Amino acid sequence: MRAAASIRTRLSAWYAGAFALLLSVFALGAYAFLEHTTEARIDEYLAETAGAVAGAMEYERVSGTAFDQIIDDVLEEFRLRDIAVIVLERETNRISMLDLGTRPRATSPRTHAAQQLPDLRTIMTSTRASDPTIFATASGEAGPVRVVALPYRLGTRDIVIGAARSLEAQERTLREARYALGIGIPLMLLVATAGGSLLARKSLEPVSALAEQAARIGATSLHERVVVPNPRDELGRLAAVLNDLLERLDRSFEEQRRFTADASHELRTPVAIISGEAELALSREGRSPAELRDALARVRAESDRLKQIVEDLFLLARAEAGDPIVVPREVYLGEVAADSVRALRSLAERKDVTLAFTGSEDLPFQGDEALLRRLFVNLLDNAIKYTPAGGDVTLSAERRNGDYLVTVADTGPGIPADAQPHIFDRFYRSDRDRRASATGGAGLGLAIASWVAQTHGGSLALDRSDASGSRFIVRLPAGTE
Ligand code: ADP
Repeated sequence: MRAAASIRTRLSAWYAGAFALLLSVFALGAYAFLEHTTEARIDEYLAETAGAVAGAMEYERVSGTAFDQIIDDVLEEFRLRDIAVIVLERETNRISMLDLGTRPRATSPRTHAAQQLPDLRTIMTSTRASDPTIFATASGEAGPVRVVALPYRLGTRDIVIGAARSLEAQERTLREARYALGIGIPLMLLVATAGGSLLARKSLEPVSALAEQAARIGATSLHERVVVPNPRDELGRLAAVLNDLLERLDRSFEEQRRFTADASHELRTPVAIISGEAELALSREGRSPAELRDALARVRAESDRLKQIVEDLFLLARAEAGDPIVVPREVYLGEVAADSVRALRSLAERKDVTLAFTGSEDLPFQGDEALLRRLFVNLLDNAIKYTPAGGDVTLSAERRNGDYLVTVADTGPGIPADAQPHIFDRFYRSDRDRRASATGGAGLGLAIASWVAQTHGGSLALDRSDASGSRFIVRLPAGTE
C-alpha cells in the first residue's frame, strides 16, 4: 500500500512539475508577445502621425505660409487625444509643443510629454538630419513615454518632428496581464495537480487491489488465483503472469508434497519390517540360533533396501538442487556396460536367467563412470528381476550414426500398457509389482537411469514392451570422432 502511495505521490509531483514548466513557458511567451505587439502598434501609430504632420507642414509651406505660422497651424491641427506633437527647429533649438508650460488635465498626453521635456529634448536634438526615424522611450515621474523623432527638411529649415504617447495604458494592460497570469497559473496548477493526483490514484487502484489479493494467497491457498480485470491491458497481463507463477508454485508444492509422502511411505515399509523382525526375535525366550540367523538375514536385507532407497533419494535430491554430481572423464562406454553385465552375472545365475553382452567394448565417451554404471545396472537389475527363470537378458552396445546405443532387452512379461507412460516417474511401480513386493524396488530406478542419460546429453526410452519382453534404449551422443 505504501509503495502504491509513493508511486502516486511521485507521479503527481512529476505531473505537476511538468505542467508548471509548460505553463510558465507558455505564460512567458504570451507575455513577451503581448509586450512586443503593443509596442509595435504604438510605434507604428506614432510614425504615421509624424509622417502626417510632415505632410501637412509641407502643404502649408508650398502654399506660402510663414514657418512660425506653419508650426502653430500644424500643432493646432494635430491636437490629438492620445498623442502630443512636438516640433524642433534645429537652427534655434526651439521646441514647439501645444499647451507647453500650462497644466492641462493629468491624463493628457501633453502633460506627460511636458514632464519629460528634458528627456524629449535630448532625444530630439540628438537626432541628426541623416538619421532614419528614431524610436525611444523617455522615462520620468509620470511614467514612461514612447517617442518617435522624424528628422525632416522643410524648405530650407532642418526640423525634427516628434510624436509622443504615454505608455501608461500599455503598462496598465501589461500589469493586468501579469496579475491575470500570476493568479491564473497557480490556480490552474492547483486544479491540475489535484486532478493528476486523483487520476494517479484511480489508475493505481487496481494495482493495490492486485497486491491485496496476492498478499492473501499463502502456502495453503496456492490454488487460489487473482482476478484478471482486463487480459489485454498491462495490469491484466501482470495478473495473468502472477496466476501463471501461482500455477507453477502450486504444481511444484504439490509435487514436493507427493514426493515427501511417497518417500516416507517407501521408507516406512522396510523400517516396519526391521522393527517387526527384531520384535519377533526378542518376544520369545529360547530362539534357536538358526531362527535368529534368519531374522538377522531379513533385517540385513531390509537394511540394504533401506540404504539403497536413501541413497537414491539423496542422489535425486542433489540432482534436483543442481549440485555438480557428474564428474566427466574419458571412459569406454562398452567397457562400462560389459562391467555392469559382469557385476550382475551372479544375480542372473541365481534367478536362472541367461545374461549376455554383445557389441563393442570401446566406444570412447566423456562421462561419469559411476553414474553410467548405475544407469546400466538399474536397467539390467529390472530386466533380471522381472524376467522369469529360463529367460534371457541381453545388453548390446554399439555406435550408430552420431550416437552410441546401449540396448537392454529381456524376455520378461512386458510392462502393462497403462503403466508404460509412468515408469520413469519417481516412486512409480506398476500395480502388479506393488502387489508382489518381493520384487521390491522403490520405483526410483528408472527415474535415476533417465536422469543419468539426460545429464550426459542423451536419453532413455522404452523402445518396445509386450508379452515377449521389453527393450530399453539408452542413446548417448558419440561426438564427432
Ligand atoms: P523399481 O525399483 O520398482 O524396479 P523402476 O523405476 O526401476 O522401479 O521401475 C518402475 C516400474 O517399471 C517397475 O515397478 C516395473 O513395474 C516396471 N519395469 C521396469 N523395468 C521393467 C522390465 N524390464 N520388465 C517389466 N517391467 C519393468
